[in-house]
Amino acid sequence: MEKREILKARRMAYNYRHKHKPFHIPCQLCGAEKTDLHHEDYSVWHRVVFLCRKCHMMVHKGLLPCPPPYDIRTITNSDIAELGRRALAKEIRSMRMAILRDMEAVKMG
Ligand SMILES: [Zn+2]
Ligand SMILES: [Zn+2]
Repeated sequence: MEKREILKARRMAYNYRHKHKPFHIPCQLCGAEKTDLHHEDYSVWHRVVFLCRKCHMMVHKGLLPCPPPYDIRTITNSDIAELGRRALAKEIRSMRMAILRDMEAVKMG
């Protein structure tokens, strides 16, 4: 996959969200309000996972499991409400805390 295609997929997904979905979509892992769009497969620009910056980083590092993607073109208000309910919130946040603690411990020696 070329860098150009990756950037194009990202741009299309962000533009689409900006144009059509001005309401917020919570992080699929922790329920945080502000989200990045994560692509599992850049050749399908509209299939994205909604992740906050922290969960996103950890998914990329393989520290958290990646939830299933949504089609940004067909997502509905009830999907969004469901996403909010399904976010593992508490458990994921405590998992994240534990990971961060480990990372700090490694840094300290
Ligand atoms: Zn999150
Ligand atoms: Zn990503």
